[in-house]
Amino acid sequence: MTLHSKFQDETDKSAKPSYFNLPPLDVSVAFPQATPASTFPPCASDYYQFDDLLSLEEQAIRKKVRECMEKEVAPVMAELICIFPLSIGRRQSFHSKLFQNLVLFILLVGYGCPGLSLTGSAIAIAEVARVDASISTFFLVHSSLAMLTIALCGSEEQKQKYLPSLAQLKTIACWALTEPDYGSDANSLKTIATKVEGGWILEGQKRWIGNSTFADVLVIFSRNSTTNQINGYIVKKDSPGLTATKMANKIGLRIVQNGDILLKKVFVPDEDRLPGVNSFQDTSKVLAVSRVIVAWQSVGISMGVYDMCHRYLKERKQFGAPLAAFQINQQKLARMLGNVQAMTLVGWRLCKLYEKGKMTPGHASLGKSWISLKARETVALGRELLGGNGILADFLVAKAFCDLEPIYTFEGTYDINSLVTGREITGFASFKPAPMSQRSRL
Ligand SMILES: Cc1cc2nc3c(=O)[nH]c(=O)nc-3n(C[C@H](O)[C@H](O)[C@H](O)COP(=O)(O)OP(=O)(O)OC[C@H]3O[C@@H](n4cnc5c(N)ncnc54)[C@H](O)[C@@H]3O)c2cc1C
Repeated sequence: MTLHSKFQDETDKSAKPSYFNLPPLDVSVAFPQATPASTFPPCASDYYQFDDLLSLEEQAIRKKVRECMEKEVAPVMAELICIFPLSIGRRQSFHSKLFQNLVLFILLVGYGCPGLSLTGSAIAIAEVARVDASISTFFLVHSSLAMLTIALCGSEEQKQKYLPSLAQLKTIACWALTEPDYGSDANSLKTIATKVEGGWILEGQKRWIGNSTFADVLVIFSRNSTTNQINGYIVKKDSPGLTATKMANKIGLRIVQNGDILLKKVFVPDEDRLPGVNSFQDTSKVLAVSRVIVAWQSVGISMGVYDMCHRYLKERKQFGAPLAAFQINQQKLARMLGNVQAMTLVGWRLCKLYEKGKMTPGHASLGKSWISLKARETVALGRELLGGNGILADFLVAKAFCDLEPIYTFEGTYDINSLVTGREITGFASFKPAPMSQRSRL
């Protein structure tokens, strides 16, 4: 018998007794000692009583979003491994209701938007991320990137035309900057916009674009072939020449539908060019705000992981004692808890600086980079604390661990955000390497 045919024999299901083909045991039967995250743990991470720093309205938002996520999302979280609920949800009242409940935290004022403070918006996104980072990323892209770009850089007609239906989630948006060859160096992007009669022709490629496979409205950045500057366009789905296909094999934020976009001579009418995007600098106004929101995603993920570990360590016993009774585990918990308090306070201060008109791009970048760094440490400690269950999505921590990786990377990697702050505090931009000479002077 050849190796190949032996392998085939071994995997032939019909040759095995039927018990090999049974579905996996429910986790509560397979591992009765600890409660899975489908019953979400109570919040134990708010050690310094953050509510004292929030207005009554912000406290109410926090409570409402927390209840909604714990009750409606946590029970189905492990099943939603890579299906985005909204793409099927338009036909299912459960998910539509869920999203309508969550949409209340859109930042913008007017045009049918609730007009929350940045603090309100940030704490709400953290509550979503505490239970599921992918759903928080959906809102980040839809509202804090795409809607915000239309609000800050669009004409009055564009705002009236697009924002009300986006605010009610009747239409969905995505935000396309990154290209296969230009990620951190997005300023050099190559998608080209050429002026023709009555509009523009867009030609190029985008990659990693969240929500793009089902978005109705695509905010796309492109280089003006005449001025060589970056411009922004609102492109509608079903435009001839436009395709968006789902990227496969992601290990984090698996529910988010990231797409590859191909633009083959896509016509965009003049009325859909965003008049306020005339250079790459104009995207920075949007990125500064959205980086604060990304920082708060990291806070929320870390809160969820701490909460899960806090409960798990009391439920799970080894060597005749709860895991919580071991000194090393307590030290890890305390480190995680300290991180969450510090991250929350830095995130809160960023929001206040923004609300007073004092936040700079450097402030936002330092917040995003430092908070996501601390979050990375926090989820790694959490993953350790759960042992084997730290790699099962059922106990949240494994999923959060994988979800934090893209968050550490998107909206500017840790390194790029450090360089944005570095430029602001020193006056020197160091994004480009020093010119490479043939002969070393050393
Ligand atoms: C899940 C996910 C969702 C995303 N969603 C969107 C979206 O909706 N819209 C969108 O436009 N984009 C999106 N992105 C793209 C994201 O913004 C980019 O991945 C990110 O900017 C990094 O670019 P890159 O992946 O090409 O990495 P690269 O730019 O190739 O960087 C690779 C490494 O080199 C380092 N590096 C690069 N340049 C420098 C430098 N000058 N100095 C020091 N180190 C440097 C980086 O820090 C990084 O560690 C998403 C990405 C992910 C993973």
